[in-house]
Amino acid sequence: MNPLKFILFCASVLITACTDKSDRIDYTLSWTGNGIRVDMEVRSCLDSLFFTYATENGGFTDQMSWFQDLTPLKGDVTADPATRKIAVVPDGGQARLSYTVRCALPEDYYSPKSCLWDMFRPDLDGEMMFTRTENLFLAPENMATPVSVRWAEVPEYPVYCIYNPGKGTDPYNGTAGSVVGSAIVGDPLLEVDTIMINGRANYLVTALRKSHDMNIITLKEYFRDFYGSISEFWGEEDPEPYSMVIFPFRNNTFEMTGNGFSNGFLSRYDATADTILTTGRRDIFTHEIGHKWIGGGNAWFSEGFNEMQTGYQTVASGLDKPSFFAEYLNHALAGLHRNPHRNDPGDLAEERFWDDGDYTWLLYWRGFSYAFHLTGLVEKTTGKPDAWKVMMDAVKPFLHDFSRERFLEAMGGLIGKERTEADFRKYILEGQDFDYRPEDLPSGCAIVRLPDGTPKLEITDTLLFARHFSVHLKS
Ligand SMILES: [Zn+2]
Repeated sequence: MNPLKFILFCASVLITACTDKSDRIDYTLSWTGNGIRVDMEVRSCLDSLFFTYATENGGFTDQMSWFQDLTPLKGDVTADPATRKIAVVPDGGQARLSYTVRCALPEDYYSPKSCLWDMFRPDLDGEMMFTRTENLFLAPENMATPVSVRWAEVPEYPVYCIYNPGKGTDPYNGTAGSVVGSAIVGDPLLEVDTIMINGRANYLVTALRKSHDMNIITLKEYFRDFYGSISEFWGEEDPEPYSMVIFPFRNNTFEMTGNGFSNGFLSRYDATADTILTTGRRDIFTHEIGHKWIGGGNAWFSEGFNEMQTGYQTVASGLDKPSFFAEYLNHALAGLHRNPHRNDPGDLAEERFWDDGDYTWLLYWRGFSYAFHLTGLVEKTTGKPDAWKVMMDAVKPFLHDFSRERFLEAMGGLIGKERTEADFRKYILEGQDFDYRPEDLPSGCAIVRLPDGTPKLEITDTLLFARHFSVHLKS
């Protein structure tokens, strides 16, 4: 065969193998008794593809220790543990590989400093299953890549996949983004209740150890009332089913955390708890549900504004009185004032978010304080007491593609470009203390100072203050 003909021959083979130009990934999952074996088939006409295993969320550094037995079955596959990158070189448009995810919390696991981070670690064994899916699936560079997931072997206990709401381990077809940013839980006591909200099915997933009837009734009521109210606030036309997953956690050291996803949330609690919906845990659920809408971008926004939303929606949905908002904000104002990094620049704090709980909370509380400050300015310039709603209507168009610039532009449209930029620089970038000038505050309240200088919100006019929560007034 002459060289030219040989080249043409190779080219035609490639063309036959790659008729479909879009990539595709098919996953088959098999329960091994103490882990999940993943068989992954990649179809692509690209020379090579790069995937990432797990994230740095949670401050973890040893994620690759639970990614085991990587085996290339077709094509070339190499893993770089330092960057958690997996390089795949397809052979004739196709690559196949397998790996196993195995990780259980140690028997004597106790980590009081890990208040946020232990939620990010898989816990898989014969008694229960818990994994965020970035610890199970590989994330491709293009998260819109079509993906299918099929379970070949399931554990003896029921399993719930947040990415496949209400359908357990049935086959799933979607995008890489929808399966990678999600979670899976399994438990012998797992129970899935369908909750109809505004004529649509949503799911409450529990594995209650104690006081079943009381807890299930309280959780159902909360879900129906709160989720119904917040969905109405955001005016969703065609929402996907939402899953509220309340899952028992072993050796629990810190209950005030959960994970919010685009179509569900997961919150853990101490399995020995008699009453699940305490006020603190209700606020966590509310915060995590809030991430459905406020979730992307910098932490001062995704966490801080979501905290503002938690305080606001708790009142607006009728779960609590307007004084609850004041208490919730005061907790943040005090936390910020007493934070050792209170005046650190915003970008530095973002960088250190996972390093140290003080930095984590700094951004929650600074963002919340800033959101509250903005509602005062927006009320003053627009004359509308429900300034939070006005602000959220302005940012809604880019919530799924949030950027600092778009945010400043939207706020500039409400309170003027100059004031917006000056305040943002001062409070978020430079980390200066909030002034709380009386003329900038929302109506019906004042900021007083405690002896150590901690600011504290006081409601001076109950009726005026209640007008900030318009949904509440409607009902
Ligand atoms: Zn959050």
